[in-house]
Amino acid sequence: MIRAFVALGSNLDQPAQQLEQALAALNALPNTTLAGCSSFYTSPPMAGMDQPDYVNAVAALDTTLAPLALLDALQGIETRQGRERHTRWGARTLDLDMILYGDQQLSCERLTVPHYGMAERAFVLIPLFELAPDLTLPDGRQLTTLLAQCPPQTLFRR
Ligand code: ATP
Ligand code: MG
Ligand code: MG
Repeated sequence: MIRAFVALGSNLDQPAQQLEQALAALNALPNTTLAGCSSFYTSPPMAGMDQPDYVNAVAALDTTLAPLALLDALQGIETRQGRERHTRWGARTLDLDMILYGDQQLSCERLTVPHYGMAERAFVLIPLFELAPDLTLPDGRQLTTLLAQCPPQTLFRR
């Protein structure tokens, strides 16, 4: 059994409900249990983009799905919840990013874990800290160190 962490984000079509629906879908995945979820947070879009605010959270999963099978499952949930990809970082009904897959470091065309952007994203690190305050990354860095070094960003706990 692997403990994986998934970052959820939405800024279209009732974002908090999108996250609730996604959590139910994650819990219904084969060979997977939803082990926990952080609080929901509101954050402005990255890089000052002209979009609605996001609702973000991080979920903990216990799974025996292989990494690419889990990615397929996450993308299936995104698609079923109306995710459309027009422009990079465009507004979306649902984004499910695999932040961590146990202590594995993986890189192929479709999947890089740990997620490349996690260290710069307060909307990932702060909810992740709620679930796993003592977490050590596969490269040996402590989550608390990443949090201390993360650029300041606006984030409201809902
Ligand atoms: P960002 O990745 O910067 O948060 P995004 O989430 O909007 O941007 P997507 O359009 O959701 O980007 O995904 C783009 C591609 O990233 C997907 O096709 C997927 O194969 C790939 N990808 C690589 N690593 C991961 C990961 N850890 N989790 C989810 N997708 C990943
Ligand atoms: Mg993303
Ligand atoms: Mg994504």
